[in-house]
Amino acid sequence: MPEYNIPKTQRAAIVEKEGSGVTVKNNHPVKSQDQLAPGECLVKLECSGACHTDLHAATGDWPLKASLPLIGGHEGVGVVVAIGKDTVRSPVKLGDRVGIKWLADSCLNCEHCRKGREQNCPEAKLSGFTVDGTFQEYVVSYVNHVTPIPDGFPSDAAASILCAGVTVYRAIKYSETQIGDWMVIPGAGGGLGHLAVQYARVRGLRVIAIDAGEAKRDLCLQLGAEKFVDFKESKDIVGEIKKATGGEGAHAAVVTSAASGGYTQAIDYLRPGGVLMAVGLPGEATLNASIFFTVFKSIKILGSYVGNRQDSMEAIDIAARGNVTVHFETKPLSALKDVYDGMAAGNIAGRIVLDYSK
Ligand code: NAD
Ligand code: ZN
Repeated sequence: MPEYNIPKTQRAAIVEKEGSGVTVKNNHPVKSQDQLAPGECLVKLECSGACHTDLHAATGDWPLKASLPLIGGHEGVGVVVAIGKDTVRSPVKLGDRVGIKWLADSCLNCEHCRKGREQNCPEAKLSGFTVDGTFQEYVVSYVNHVTPIPDGFPSDAAASILCAGVTVYRAIKYSETQIGDWMVIPGAGGGLGHLAVQYARVRGLRVIAIDAGEAKRDLCLQLGAEKFVDFKESKDIVGEIKKATGGEGAHAAVVTSAASGGYTQAIDYLRPGGVLMAVGLPGEATLNASIFFTVFKSIKILGSYVGNRQDSMEAIDIAARGNVTVHFETKPLSALKDVYDGMAAGNIAGRIVLDYSK
């Protein structure tokens, strides 16, 4: 068994109060092995992706509130360096490289867990929201829910699969689409969206990307979208999508924009029988769908929330085999505030991954 020297303190990015900004502290305590409960493990993180959800949590613009003070982050990858005493049947051991996703833990015994909707477990613990997340060098997580990372898949390349990838993978898996169908992805140039373009392609779908600006246009087209609609420039988003799809409209839309704008035209550009898969999480917005046309066109409106352990392993496997690639830039933990500013302004094409060796 490998032995690890676990320091008493570490760097951590902390939000004291909603909207108060994020401060990096150098002397945040690290839990020691004897402080871990059965089932808990300590993971020494190499890196963590920064998701728009972390920005919602830090700003407090959701109807659900994070525990404060908050250490955000839920796209971490690192090595298991300690496991709580009396942990039984752990699927991971010391030295294993694992990922930390949004769903940190669930009871595994309730109806939701038994049916595979672990994310809806009433006892769910959420990384970087109800328990401390991955914007720190050492995170306490849970042996049953960490995701093994295959050898040879670099940690920084794997990080954003753990939220962005898993989430869109599951949303597309349940989108009731068939090979050759058209899928519209509003938010396609962002963290979730650019992975959605790729998982949709893996499923054999034809992709129309919606986002704004040259960088996101180039990224989406390079990743295999057949058409890009700039939501800031287009005068007729619905018309452009209908035209591209031969007049009928798209079979499905997976909305990954954090702003409600991404949802507004979806019912209109879906063809009869189409599926609107809601993924992006604007805090206060409501879906303004015409009841008449939802019925008349037999539209299905579904919500999809992250993924379970199986979705995570499937999404990681597809990416580890090179079929989906996170487009990312690395920055030090101290850059988190700037990352949030860039995200709020819509300036990040793909993802930022915080690298803790920097
Ligand atoms: P991001 O900021 O990286 O990407 C969002 C993209 O949406 C940006 O590229 C932006 O330009 C684009 N956009 C904004 N307005 C638009 C519009 N009107 N039409 C089309 N595109 C538009 O954010 P992200 O990290 O990809 O997260 C996106 C959203 O998904 C957030 O609300 C986040 O909280 C949510 N999310 C949901 C789940 C889930 O389980 N359902 C999981 C993770 C994240
Ligand atoms: Zn996320």
